[in-house]
Amino acid sequence: MDQPEFFDAGALVAVLTTQPLDRTLDYRAPEGGCHLGAFVEVPLGPRRVLGVVWGAGEGGFDLSRVRPVTRVLDVAPMRAELRAFLTRAADYTLTPMPAMLRLATRAPGLGGAVSMKRIYRLGHADPDRMTGARARVLALMEEFGGVAFTLGELSQMAGVSNSVIKGLVRQGALIEEDTPRDLPYPRLDPSRPGLALTGDQAAAAETLRTGLRAGEFGATLLKGVTGSGKTEVYLEAVAECLSRGRQALVLLPEIALTAEFLHRVEGRFGAKPAEWHSGVTMTERRRCWKMVGEGGAQLVVGARSALYLPFRDLGLIVVDEEHDSSYKQEDGALYNARDMAVLRASFCSAQVVLASATPSLESWANVEAGKYRRLDLAARFGAAELPEMRAIDMRREELHSNHWISPTLRRAVEARIETGEQALLFLNRRGYAPVTICRACGHQIGCDQCDARMVEHRFLKRLVCHQCGETKPIPQTCPSCGAADRLAPVGPGVERLAEEVAEAFPDARVAVLSSDLFGSARALKAKIVEIAQGAADIVIGTQLVAKGHNFPLLTLVGVIDADLGLQGSDLRAAERTFQLMRQVAGRAGRAEKPGIALLQSFQPEHPVIRAILSGDEEGFWQAEAAERRAAGVPPYGRMAGIVLSSPDMKAAFDLGGQMARDDAPLRRIGAQLYGPAPAPIARIRGRHRVRLLVKADKSAPLQAALRDWAAQFKLPANLRLQIDIDPQSFY
Ligand code: ADP
Ligand code: ZN
Repeated sequence: MDQPEFFDAGALVAVLTTQPLDRTLDYRAPEGGCHLGAFVEVPLGPRRVLGVVWGAGEGGFDLSRVRPVTRVLDVAPMRAELRAFLTRAADYTLTPMPAMLRLATRAPGLGGAVSMKRIYRLGHADPDRMTGARARVLALMEEFGGVAFTLGELSQMAGVSNSVIKGLVRQGALIEEDTPRDLPYPRLDPSRPGLALTGDQAAAAETLRTGLRAGEFGATLLKGVTGSGKTEVYLEAVAECLSRGRQALVLLPEIALTAEFLHRVEGRFGAKPAEWHSGVTMTERRRCWKMVGEGGAQLVVGARSALYLPFRDLGLIVVDEEHDSSYKQEDGALYNARDMAVLRASFCSAQVVLASATPSLESWANVEAGKYRRLDLAARFGAAELPEMRAIDMRREELHSNHWISPTLRRAVEARIETGEQALLFLNRRGYAPVTICRACGHQIGCDQCDARMVEHRFLKRLVCHQCGETKPIPQTCPSCGAADRLAPVGPGVERLAEEVAEAFPDARVAVLSSDLFGSARALKAKIVEIAQGAADIVIGTQLVAKGHNFPLLTLVGVIDADLGLQGSDLRAAERTFQLMRQVAGRAGRAEKPGIALLQSFQPEHPVIRAILSGDEEGFWQAEAAERRAAGVPPYGRMAGIVLSSPDMKAAFDLGGQMARDDAPLRRIGAQLYGPAPAPIARIRGRHRVRLLVKADKSAPLQAALRDWAAQFKLPANLRLQIDIDPQSFY
């Protein structure tokens, strides 16, 4: 349908609001009219709410009662590209449009007038009388020549009261003025030279540049081990994009990685980019949101929600560590940022670069199907892609109870310590012990709110539920039988492993890297830098260490339990284990010294373990692809997970049963329905959870069928129905 681009005053417009309504609302365009896509404030009952002019009003009712738009906000209207993207993303993920609009307006104070701040600069007059306090202020201003300060900054830095500053203003020695708070970001200079690239780096960069020159949509998988120069190569693509006057977005899976990236960008382009993630202040968020829309931000580095920013002209999206499961948003709107990045790029004629050392099977399959281009970077300096990998057959090792480091692994660690090299012991379990059991009655301490066992964290001196975050003190007596001092930890977490290490290697310097042991991303980053410089002999880490960090002195990786990820029914268990083991092994031998990875396993003949050891990556992917194709599961079939949750278990099961019976819309597209069944985690935060699973052919119109199917049921109060398209985790 052709939409007018502008609505004159009084014209009927349809406004999409952020309120949970299932349709747009009609209003009259305000005095002066408004553009299609304009951000507006509209009256809704007694309130005023944020909305976007989505099209011409629908009318069909008493027009005299239609209220006018309260005002048009002073921000760039939402572009057609973003409106189309939000609509399509809502359709795909079955997310209501108001929730999509909330994702796209996650910055405070957008409704506010252009916000100003008062600043102080050096004036030309001299004060009539010089006091010590006045002299300090003026000296400070001289020292920073040209910089403007706020009142608070100035009084604090000079150590004077506000009245001293106001006095200087009256004398003309300082000038007081107002400037907009949301200033453009410093310009990045894409013409500054980068590093001299190696042959395949240069070839990869040139391919990406060619894509950008065409100004068309295209997706590329950029594959190479950590340190092979993926960042260097995609920064070349960013340079090309910026020099064409378009904007770029780089998504990172973890805030801890952004600090390092900001420095890289500053080194390469002479200034820092805009940031968008949960660690950014609200004022900065609003600045970023506005500047992106006005073109005052050329490059944004951010978390997945940066995909919904109102870019003026987005030409490139990089998804770094594209396989990372944290790209899947698991609360509220359920979406995979990697897939949404590709979708958004297709609406704005942008290039997408998916970078990874261990790509997801989805991306691998898209390359095989000819949808994505693939570029491979060889390891640096001719080093082997991965260190030598060997299994330690735990059935043949002698191990005391409550010990997890086999004699073979122990000897290998000792050898590293003797030569001054580092060893990493990898265990993907936070805390001290995953289970606390009563030796008298066998009771396991669980969370009161969830169907999950509490994990002992000795560092915190508490039991923690990894599902809901609930904590409680470690009890002295068993909550079930009352026996005193019979509670015992079972199994290892990294904290317990640290005890064993301290006992086995009393003279070694040990560092534990686990996300819960650090107060902030910055503290964690500082620790990582220290370790990289040699501040520890033995590093104990969770999957945190697998993500992109470099430890040049590390030559041994010991995986405490290589079988851990293979348990459970997750269809991606093999893929995840394969990726994780390769990433962890890849920490060893990054510099000149060769490394080795030793995997402790009770089933070294398991096909996944064998594939990991053989290093035949393409072979593993082929085999995994064949299995998933035969089973008709993603990426060769489509799936949707449905979770019904309620404080009332019967209500959830009743509805689940009804949904399973009235499944005609699903049968029409040939989909299969499984369940209802208790979800693997049958209770979270006091809500019982019932699961259904829908499987369909790749080409089946799954979303439309799900929509028709779900629309048949009326949800009792307090019951939540959540549909997860392409579920990543099955809990
Ligand atoms: P990745 O993103 O694949 O982990 P990076 O781009 O971060 O790789 O490169 C790893 C390190 O190697 C960085 O310190 C980077 O500056 C350096 N590096 C990469 N390519 C080159 C090159 N062509 N010349 C010099 N140093 C390079
Ligand atoms: Zn819990």
